[in-house]
Amino acid sequence: GKFICSKALSNEPEENDEKKKKVNIGRLISLSYPERYYISIAFVMLIISSFTNIVSPFFFGSVVDSAVNYPDLSEMNKYIFYLFIVYFLGSLASGLRSWLFEVSGQRVVARLRKSVFNSIVKEDIKFFDTNRTGELTSRISSDTQVLQSAVTTNMSMFARYLLQIIGSIIFMFSLEPSLTALLLGVIPVVSLLTVQYGRYLRKLKKKFQDELAASSVVAEEALSSMRTVRSFAAESKMSNEYEKNINKSFEIGKKLAVAQGGFMGFVGIITGSALALVLWYGGKLVHDKKISTGILASFLMYTLQVAMAFAFLSSVYGDFMQALGASQRIFELLDSQPSIKLNTGLIPDSDDNNFDGSILFENVEFSYPTRSDTKVLKNVSLKIEKGKTLALVGPSGGGKSTIFSLIERFYDPDSGQLKLGPNSIDLKLINTNWLHSKIALVSQEPVLFGGTIKENISFGLDQEVDTERIIEVAKLANAHEFINGFEKGYDTVVGERGIRLSGGQKQRIAIARALLIDPKLLLLDEATSALDSESEHLVQEAIERAMKDRTVCVIAHRLSTVRNADRVVVLENGQLVEQGTHDELCEMDGIYKRLVLRQLLTKETLSTQS
Ligand code: ADP
Repeated sequence: GKFICSKALSNEPEENDEKKKKVNIGRLISLSYPERYYISIAFVMLIISSFTNIVSPFFFGSVVDSAVNYPDLSEMNKYIFYLFIVYFLGSLASGLRSWLFEVSGQRVVARLRKSVFNSIVKEDIKFFDTNRTGELTSRISSDTQVLQSAVTTNMSMFARYLLQIIGSIIFMFSLEPSLTALLLGVIPVVSLLTVQYGRYLRKLKKKFQDELAASSVVAEEALSSMRTVRSFAAESKMSNEYEKNINKSFEIGKKLAVAQGGFMGFVGIITGSALALVLWYGGKLVHDKKISTGILASFLMYTLQVAMAFAFLSSVYGDFMQALGASQRIFELLDSQPSIKLNTGLIPDSDDNNFDGSILFENVEFSYPTRSDTKVLKNVSLKIEKGKTLALVGPSGGGKSTIFSLIERFYDPDSGQLKLGPNSIDLKLINTNWLHSKIALVSQEPVLFGGTIKENISFGLDQEVDTERIIEVAKLANAHEFINGFEKGYDTVVGERGIRLSGGQKQRIAIARALLIDPKLLLLDEATSALDSESEHLVQEAIERAMKDRTVCVIAHRLSTVRNADRVVVLENGQLVEQGTHDELCEMDGIYKRLVLRQLLTKETLSTQS
């Protein structure tokens, strides 16, 4: 149903996907390449702090031995001093290491977020038909976060524990080989068990995360459409929906809690047993006078350290695998190439000669990528003529908006062609960014962004625009007066954190926004919803001004619009069924006539009839 989280992007790599994993690890590491200087210093710090960790048990043992064996405290004081120096240096290096890794991680993740976002906004529109917004934002925020820890903290931890294990073992060997050999027999068993358990835990965690993500999608959907939810009294329904999802994740969460607790206990028991075993054998060696008490003390510390390092290593390994999964999703986004490129292709050198706003549809067939079995446009041929107004009418679902989407190149037709300008250049050859700078779309329910009115009007332009020019278009769009009525005028903030505008006001701002780019072709989707009559009049006037001396294609809902249009095209079920002027079509006694009579061309029809 509607609430099922779509899984359009692939999830964590399968275990057998080894080859891809290897590629990803290399690429994961290369993400931190720009931070190589920071990271190199961090690694030096890491080696220093690991080294101090490795030698401190040795001094620890020496303190014990000198306390036991020397008549005065001078020898012990010496070792205490060494121990202090070692701890001091170690802590300093640890602090530096932690800071350097963290800051490099932050840089990596900031850079990654920027490029992921940049890559997403350049995707084909069909990408947004199949991927939910919530999922995409979570890619940007949480997946990149996981990567951050992977490329820095995890890698550093991994190196640190590995160094610690190797260093400790070398030291231990030099102290007492037989005890070390015993330890080396125990450790692989311990680590194997821990890794296995850790793997199980990770799978549960992933499942838990997935369920949680599914419920966030439900929550986001409900919260972002609160008005619809409220107006249908669907609060409990949404709550139930959310509850169902949360319950699912809660069930897994409970299992996870048991498993995590079990893991902790398990690791504790295992390391405890290993320690007891070493203590027993070591005690025996001390008893037999084979080693000193100090050496046994050192050994116990080493054992603890090595066991802990192994436990951490396996958990770091888990995190790292999780990061590989996240990285796969991120790299997929980074690598995915939109089929409709935005900034390549032909830029007709002089607009006046090469693009006059005219567009030709030739035998266009189209189905939406998400519903490829349903043809939405069937063999449509039509011409938007230079300087003329073409009105699209027809029952809802007929394919009118789809015509706009093709002109905007949100999608490409399955077959047939769209041709641009007097030279009939295939639209696919044209630079899409350039195209969008020549075509403006005013939709039924215009979207304003959180920001000032001025920013919203100049949305379509990259460069700074003079306030004068903005005022000019706002006046044309009948928006200047109400904007001036606000205390902060053009600097008034609109959107979620600002002033709420009425439908008519939004529409006039949208018209101003369209006018500012002085489009060669204006695509206009007339509002079907009623505005108050004052606003209605102002919007209508603004629209008429915008249409004047321009090539226009309008999805018409008003009688006056179709009457004034140079030509009317009737679309039904994706087919062009009638075309001509209003008068011609009325004489034809076909669908158009019926539409007009059935007052599908809204209330103005009513008012002209009454
Ligand atoms: P109109 O503007 O005439 O009401 P549309 O062009 O919006 O018609 O829709 C034509 C058909 O395409 C409808 O059946 C509609 O359900 C379908 N449609 C519209 N947009 C999409 C989309 N993004 N994905 C899949 N199908 C769509």
